[in-house]
Amino acid sequence: MNCYCKYCGAKNSSIASLTASHCPRHPAGANKGLHALYEGGEKAKYVCKHCGTSNSSLASLTGSHCPRHPLWANKGLHEPAL
Ligand SMILES: [Zn+2]
Ligand SMILES: [Zn+2]
Repeated sequence: MNCYCKYCGAKNSSIASLTASHCPRHPAGANKGLHALYEGGEKAKYVCKHCGTSNSSLASLTGSHCPRHPLWANKGLHEPAL
């Protein structure tokens, strides 16, 4: 079963390997923290919990800015709802 990072969409077959490496889209800054497990599992489409934008790829969704991000409108990234 594949698991994904909730910040950048990185895919790995094991949670242990996923969370052992640095995340280029970590909220504290690029590579300043580790990938974190997206607990929603594998889906046909991912929806941003702030603005409702959807994308079939978690990596694409988390790669663009969210106009309704609660802290950084248009600077923060979309965040997938579970
Ligand atoms: Zn990541
Ligand atoms: Zn959004």
